[in-house]
Amino acid sequence: MSILATLTERSNNQCELCQATEQLDIYEVPLVEASADKCILACQTCREQLTGEIENDVNHWRCLSDSMWSAVPAVQVTAYRQLHKLSSETWAQDNLDMLYLEDDVKAWADEGLETEERVPTLDSNGTELKAGDNVTITKDLQVKGAGFTAKRGTAVRNISLTDNPEHIEGRVNGTRIVLVSAYLKKM
Ligand SMILES: [Zn+2]
Repeated sequence: MSILATLTERSNNQCELCQATEQLDIYEVPLVEASADKCILACQTCREQLTGEIENDVNHWRCLSDSMWSAVPAVQVTAYRQLHKLSSETWAQDNLDMLYLEDDVKAWADEGLETEERVPTLDSNGTELKAGDNVTITKDLQVKGAGFTAKRGTAVRNISLTDNPEHIEGRVNGTRIVLVSAYLKKM
């Protein structure tokens, strides 16, 4: 069976991202050899935005909230990468936080991200934070779910960056928590 025939059958002849049924064609997920496993069936609107021919229409991509749960790895990868591009939108970041990918799928998805420029994570002074940095907290922060307040002046050592450029992870009171970088100062 040809790739297109395989994809048409797999997708029920619908765009695997937004369920559109018109102008469908193969979208090859970048950085792999073309095979049905590594391609998705996508409508023209989705394809043109994925390839950057036209600008991303944020509202169109709300469809990812559903399609990211696809059982097809190539769809998961495309949804993950596209959500990353839109991660300044709260709903997109929320979806990314929820999305779970198997290790091999995650590795494939991340390959496509490395080629794009990462938005820097900045502290309260606008200094770029990097993994392994030590920071201090600049205001008392209520830690949701952990039941304590991270006090102003507390040092957090050896931080990690997260998928969200505005968040870092670090250990406070022995608990690993997410902190907003704007409330931190590099030591
Ligand atoms: Zn579509």
